[in-house]
Formats: sequence, structure tokens, C-alpha cells
Amino acid sequence: MSNQRRTIPDYKPMGPPRPSASRVPWFVAGVGIPLLAFALIGPQKEADPEPEQAAIAIEEPAAQASAEQASSRAPAESAAPAIAAAKLPVAENPAGTDLVMTIRRGDSLDRLFSRNDLSRADLAAIMQTELGRKHLRLVRPGDEIAVRHDGEQVLSLSRDLNLTQALQIQRAGDDFNAQLIDRELERRIAGASGEISSSLFLAAADAGISDRTIMNLAGIFAWDVDFVLDIRTGDEFQIIYDELWRDGERLGDGEILAAEFINQGQSFRAIRFEDPEGRVDYYTPDGLSVRKAFVRAPLSFSRISSNFNPKRRHPKLNTIRAHKGVDYAAPTGTPVKAAGDGKVIHRGVKGGYGKTVILQHGGNITTLYAHMSRYGNFRNGSRVRQGQIIGYVGSTGLATGPHLHYEYRSNGVHRNPRTVKLPEADPINPEYLPEFRAIASDLLEQLETRPSLAVAQVDVTKI
Ligand SMILES: [Zn+2]
Repeated sequence: MSNQRRTIPDYKPMGPPRPSASRVPWFVAGVGIPLLAFALIGPQKEADPEPEQAAIAIEEPAAQASAEQASSRAPAESAAPAIAAAKLPVAENPAGTDLVMTIRRGDSLDRLFSRNDLSRADLAAIMQTELGRKHLRLVRPGDEIAVRHDGEQVLSLSRDLNLTQALQIQRAGDDFNAQLIDRELERRIAGASGEISSSLFLAAADAGISDRTIMNLAGIFAWDVDFVLDIRTGDEFQIIYDELWRDGERLGDGEILAAEFINQGQSFRAIRFEDPEGRVDYYTPDGLSVRKAFVRAPLSFSRISSNFNPKRRHPKLNTIRAHKGVDYAAPTGTPVKAAGDGKVIHRGVKGGYGKTVILQHGGNITTLYAHMSRYGNFRNGSRVRQGQIIGYVGSTGLATGPHLHYEYRSNGVHRNPRTVKLPEADPINPEYLPEFRAIASDLLEQLETRPSLAVAQVDVTKI
């Protein structure tokens, strides 16, 4: 057989992996690729085009989420200055009236100033400052700009740039001075727990935690739990996480410090640890990385259609034929992600599979993604990273409706990707184990207490 061919007429496992493919680079791109991917998903549950299919959640790229939603949801790490309606810092100034202006759709600063009867000459002078130009040039709906003014005269202006930095502009005669100021933030450790009755998101809402945090939770356990197909009524979660506060106001959630997810009776636990070299990752209580070479589900939450079942009746061909993969029903256009780092060995139409991508991974493992509506941005032969978008759900080929057909083969043999034992990433450096254990035992103890819905404030740190 010719392993040299770039496209293969039928799906055959390739020869032995290239040495470079067997390296272990799945965490090289840094902490939280899947976390990031999860975090980027806008929680637009109401935007579901097929509501009856929305068993768990529907994803939308964050870029499509409107800024208003972003502002109301207060994602802690978003750079959006509008994240929280926190009190903006207002400069000391004896006279003047404080005003917080909110950017509306279609607004420019010019329009905002006109609407609020503020001097456009002052705006022009503010935009003469380098920092003003840099940090006020772009405004988005939902952004807030605080001014202190005396009639139409602007005395000072400020804008949050992120959670810890703000732009502050002060009048000095006819001109303005601009500076960046650091804003103090409080970290409060909080706990929450929930039990799933219908969906993970509803359970999260009941527990008072944000969609972002629950997506991060799913990101932490993405290598162990298939959050699309494996979630069941009665599953439970416990998390210890940071809340970010300022001036007595909660701005949003920070990182998850420790978490437990009980899926169909099986408990998974993870503890966040930053080693002295600054590498941050999640580990099991034994210090093993939660990361593995493959995530369980190569796409985000949607609804169940069928599980891995060798005797399943094929809906379209209407014959019993081995169904050697997992089907994930999902709306057309749902991003499909590489389950692991690998190389694209097929990108094209493949009979009944329709538009198909096959990846070659280390350890002579291949994964196949079929029925896609279109491909991601790469070529045959390209290297892709775990979590990278390789295509979009569709119904090309023999498909009754939009879904992803996913196969996992090891040495040419089909394996159930949902249960196959996966190679693990590097454990914690033994040197750092004592430090990790000290942190872990404290957090595990907090997890044991099954943190209640009420925020259990056990620590306050200024950051
Ligand atoms: Zn299938």
C-alpha cells in the first residue's frame, strides 16, 4: 500500500507515525487551549435556531456576541472595557457633575459628546493626547465612559481598559493630560455546587455561577468527559473559584481553583497549580495532568443523536451496518475541532462521508470527521493543534441531518473515542509535588464540604 499518497481513496490508517508526530506537544501552545475555546463561546442559548434540539447549549463565536451581552455577563478576562458597570475612577475635582455615558450602537464619541451636551472642542483636545487617541479611538456599544463636567466643559474623563487598568484624562488649562492608572482588584475565593437536572447551564445558573465559569469547568474536564453525550441527570459538580471584586461590587469570575465533576457516578477532580516556573495547569489530586492527547468530544455542546453502537441501524441506508463512530447532532456551522495535535492527511469529499477531514496523530492514531459543510483554514498536509477548528458541521454525503460523524482508529482498528484509554500529558514536576500537595489538600478539603450555593468567602486577596 502506498503511504505516500496525499489523498487516500478509502480511509486506511497510514503507516508508522513520523517521529515528529509522536512528540508530545499538545500543551505547548500554553495553558488552556480548550479552556480558551470554551471561554470564547458566547452563551447565546436563546439564539438556538432549532430550539427543540437545544438539550444542552448552543454555541456562538464570541465575536458574534453583541457587546451588550458581553457587558452584562462580565467575563473576567475579557479585555472589553464595558465588562462591569463598576464605578469608574473619577478624578479629584472640587466642582463638576459626574456622568457615566454608555456607548450605543452606531455611536461615535462625537455623537456621544453631542448627545450629552459636552464640548466637542474638549473632545478634540482630549484626542490630541497620545493615550487618549490610543484608548478612545475605538468604542463599542455597551462601553462606558465617565466624565466630570461643568456645563459643557469637560473637567476629567475616564474609561476602564480592563479589570486592572483605566485611562484617566484631566483638564489642565485649555489642554488635557492623560495617564493610565492601576485599579485595585479584590480576589475572593468562592464555592459553588450544583446537580444537573436538565442541562449543565441550568444547573450552573441555579448554583449562581456564570456561563463562562461553567464553560471553563467543561474545559478542565474535556479530556475525561464528553460534555455533549455523557452528561446525565444527577451528575454533580463542585467548584472553588475566584471572584473579582472592586468597591464592594462583584465584577465577575476569575479562575477555577479546584473542581470536581461527578459524571454517571464517576468522580473527576482537578486542581489548578502554577509552578515556580510560571506554568499553570490543572492536575488530578495525584499530580497527574488532566490534559490528554485527545479531547473526548471534538465539538462543543449540542444535542445527542446516537452513540457508538456496532449494531446500529443506519438511518439512511436502512440496513444494519456497523456504525464505527460517534454522531454528534449539531446545527450546521457548529465548529468542529481537532481532537488532538496532528497532521491533515485527507481533506476532501469521501463518498458517503461527504466532506471529510482525516488527521494523523502520534501513536498511529487517526481521527476522522465527516459530513462537514465546509473546511477550516488549512491544507492537506498541514499540522493542526488540539482544539483548532478544522471544519464546520453539515450534512454532506449520506447524512439524514446536520451532524458530525467522528471516528477514532488506533493501528487501523476502530475504537470508541468516548471510552478508549488516552495517552496522558506530563505529570507535575516531582520537584514541585510538595508545594502542589499543600495547595491541593487545602482545596480538596474545601471541595469535600460541598460548597453551598451561597458564596463561601474564605479568603480575600488584593491583586
Ligand atoms: Zn455516523
